[in-house]
Amino acid sequence: MSFFFLTYIMSICQVNGLISQPKIRKMEFDNKVIDEARQGEAIEIQSNGSENAKKLYIESYGCQMNFSDSEVVASILSENGYETTRDVSAADVVLINTCSIRENAEQRVRNRLTEFKKKKEDNPELVVGILGCMAERLKKNLLEEEKLVDLVAGPDAYRDLPNLIEEVGTGQKAVNVLLSRDETYADISPVRLDQGGISAFVTIMRGCDNMCSFCVVPFTRGRERSRDPETIVEECRDLFEKGYREVTLLGQNVDSYRWNITSKGEIKNPELPTVNFAQLMEKVALVSPLLRVRFSTSHPKDMTDDVLEIMAKYENICPYIHLPVQSGNTEVLYRMNRGYSREWYLDRIDAIKRIVPDCAISTDIITGFCGETEEEHADTLSLMDLVQYDFAYMFKYSERPKTLAERRFDDDVPDEVKGIRLNEIIEKQLQHSLLSNQKQIGTIQKVLIEGKSKRSDEQLCGRTGRNSMVIFNKENYEKGQYVLVKITECTSATLMGEVVEICA
Ligand code: SAM
Ligand code: SF4
Repeated sequence: MSFFFLTYIMSICQVNGLISQPKIRKMEFDNKVIDEARQGEAIEIQSNGSENAKKLYIESYGCQMNFSDSEVVASILSENGYETTRDVSAADVVLINTCSIRENAEQRVRNRLTEFKKKKEDNPELVVGILGCMAERLKKNLLEEEKLVDLVAGPDAYRDLPNLIEEVGTGQKAVNVLLSRDETYADISPVRLDQGGISAFVTIMRGCDNMCSFCVVPFTRGRERSRDPETIVEECRDLFEKGYREVTLLGQNVDSYRWNITSKGEIKNPELPTVNFAQLMEKVALVSPLLRVRFSTSHPKDMTDDVLEIMAKYENICPYIHLPVQSGNTEVLYRMNRGYSREWYLDRIDAIKRIVPDCAISTDIITGFCGETEEEHADTLSLMDLVQYDFAYMFKYSERPKTLAERRFDDDVPDEVKGIRLNEIIEKQLQHSLLSNQKQIGTIQKVLIEGKSKRSDEQLCGRTGRNSMVIFNKENYEKGQYVLVKITECTSATLMGEVVEICA
């Protein structure tokens, strides 16, 4: 299942019990880059039984893309004689896959690296490496100045890891932070963290060509490039054959996925077919009607009606869109360099509601961006009232080095004000999430069973196509089955119900 979505729901759930404690509530939401429960998770994949295999410990932070990348890294190193372990003290190599999106994400990783440095004092042979966005951003600092690691590999350098580890073995510090224009790891079949799982992430593109002024991603992940559609469909087919029943197609801006088409819209090779995101989604939907298709993230400036029309055409493409707005005020959006206005965004919302009528919509919102006035913040609240999001991920603005915002604007909204505004949007979102769930009561929803409910072994949980978590009695139902559930109760986070039918 999608941990990304699960944690959001869990966070709302925690928040729900904390209505009278706004400070705690703010903290719960402040850091929802995606999945708090998974931050720092270590991968373990099946052993190939070799006694001489070296042990790799890999820990991941940040967005789904990073978790998906850790699967690629584990795959590359397992081809080179490594086995994963969840026991850091058994490891020969410790890798930490990092996120730079906000300052507190980086601080968490630094604390962890300091702990690993202590382990290295006891075991000087241990290789400690940093991967991902922080590696790209800080490059040699972590090696030479802070002396926290032996190895630094940026997001496009994972194929080089076996060599880099070997270099460290010869007493050198190893670095590869070259960003590539074409690396998509298309030919690497990622090992899955949750073997026997139901839901998997499939990366369809890497990097980002947008320059949102607050965002560090274009600097850490490089230029946007799309992966060969045939390899994507093949990976989804393989996952389905292995028992997976849901794939989430991942990219920073999935709407700009394009194969054999230049950024100016010209065909690269007239003898080959072209594929855009709507066509890619259709190809994946056709793998099997039993394979649910989700995707993330859509960009309001690029989301076209043809994507919505494909969603409406296939029952197995889930009616759920994550459409980050960031702010409800056109001036702020302009300073953020988002490429759309409030009116444009609302037009896209109207298109979703018209073409995919029962579609759930979620968003990302940043409070206290440079120069944000009370009136501009009020526009975000009024936009939330207009759209009535089903879910939202909400953050305080965190200035990131080298971004356009850092160079052009003052981070002049006091932290306390950012926090107050964040609490206001969280408060509003809680009401909207509750209303959205209350509307489901009495309806019958098709649910893909993901496993045991966290509350009780006697209950199972699964998701509706709209991405709401549903809990119901276990009886004889099994993970991976589709069931029809009549919704009887809800909180702002969860639906409760009774199974009325097993789907064929
Ligand atoms: N590509 C996606 C998009 O355009 O919406 C989002 C990628 S980013 C990993 C996820 C979210 O983190 C963003 O939508 C934004 O709300 C938040 N974010 C990014 N940079 C931030 C910053 N400097 N401070 C606070 N939040 C930030
Ligand atoms: Fe960052 Fe904007 Fe690219 Fe999203 S679209 S990754 S927010 S630059």
